Amino acid sequence: MNLEITEQNVCRLLREAVAEGNIKAYYQPKYDALNSRLVGAEALARWIPADGIVISPDMFVPPLEKTGGITELDWYILEQVCAMVKSQLDNGVTAVPVSVNFSRMHTLENDFIQKLCGTVDRYGIPHKLIEAEITESALADGGESLIDFVRKIREAGFSVAIDDFGSGLSSLNFVKDVPADIIKIDKSLLSSNCEDEKERIVLESIFGFANRLDLVTVAEGVETEQQLGFLRTCDCRSIQGYLFSKPLPEQEYMKLCAETNTQAEVEAGDILFSQAPASTTNLLMQAVFTRYPLIIMCNLTRNSYYMMCYSNFTTTECAASGSFDELIEMGASTMHPEDRHLFTDAFKRENLLDAFAKGETSVTVHARQMGDDGIYRMVETTDYLVKSPHVDDIIVINLSRPLE
Ligand code: C2E
Ligand code: CA
Ligand code: CA
Repeated sequence: MNLEITEQNVCRLLREAVAEGNIKAYYQPKYDALNSRLVGAEALARWIPADGIVISPDMFVPPLEKTGGITELDWYILEQVCAMVKSQLDNGVTAVPVSVNFSRMHTLENDFIQKLCGTVDRYGIPHKLIEAEITESALADGGESLIDFVRKIREAGFSVAIDDFGSGLSSLNFVKDVPADIIKIDKSLLSSNCEDEKERIVLESIFGFANRLDLVTVAEGVETEQQLGFLRTCDCRSIQGYLFSKPLPEQEYMKLCAETNTQAEVEAGDILFSQAPASTTNLLMQAVFTRYPLIIMCNLTRNSYYMMCYSNFTTTECAASGSFDELIEMGASTMHPEDRHLFTDAFKRENLLDAFAKGETSVTVHARQMGDDGIYRMVETTDYLVKSPHVDDIIVINLSRPLE
């Protein structure tokens, strides 16, 4: 059978295919980048007519997007996913979260959340086992804003992934503003072995900001060991790609999950061995933060600062970023009147620059500082002076901790 799918006939053909059971959800597993454990899967639609020759989504998703029929497909795939997960739960098989692609067209559906919850609840599945993948495609305008749409899905207990990040349909503003949980890095950003330095810099930066925004990162389209090795050093959380598995028919996927269940728990192994350099750095930072509840990164040359860590410190008044001179003025105003001079003399910008010019590497002061509770406590403040590795700026890393 040779199906000629066009924008004119796609909706009708889809309905017929659904009625005949020719639309199937395939499942592509996602794996933990560090220990290769199965952590989830993405449901991908396959159209399999009577002749058994699979029609790829590239043939039918774009015309469905154009004509609005895509929402019917997505709801149908969700239904299949729910039935599959329910059967896993009923049979005591490990069920990992499954993501479903939701076209932006759904923002035009006023009853989207009711329908989503209604479907999932009809199968009695915990909401945390279903994720929504959403791209920032500008296909549908009007309707609810994507930000509200995503917020409502999350409020209903589902995770939301930003799909295809870096594909050209996504922007940094979108990532900043949309309250998503997961970011999927598009396969177009990965070349066969990540050997191009500029490509690596771009990827490192994307993973860097995604991790700092507390987004779970998933790399898509991972095909080679070299790519995997590099992604590990970027602290990428999970991997989806042919290196581990192609999208699988339901039965094969369920078998895979069942085998995962019967395997003895894979032990985490030596943390220093299994952690990527970027995660060991994070762990080190966590340890440093527990000792120093206030850490400020300052640029003396540019008279600026930002707080790297500012939690459980005696005072909580200070702005997250601003001018260094004002930071010192503000700090001095919270010091005991008898210690104020000591503090400003040590940390005034010109004095610190002088100290650096004389070859000093750090300046430490012990001074009494008033906390939010109105009580003075002895606080140790140390400024470490370093030259920026990138430009000619003089940087200060300020570490502070109460001594009592
Ligand atoms: P997507 O959401 O970005 O899905 C990932 C695509 O990458 C899948 O293509 C998958 O088979 C493919 N892929 C996975 N690993 C690799 C790899 O290592 N190398 C390469 N070259 N490709 C890999 P697929 O299944 O052909 O789907 C294409 C697109 O069609 C999907 O891209 C998604 O945007 C859309 N789509 C598929 N099913 C649905 C659906 O149920 N609803 C909606 N709205 N869109 C769907
Ligand atoms: Ca997707
Ligand atoms: Ca994708």
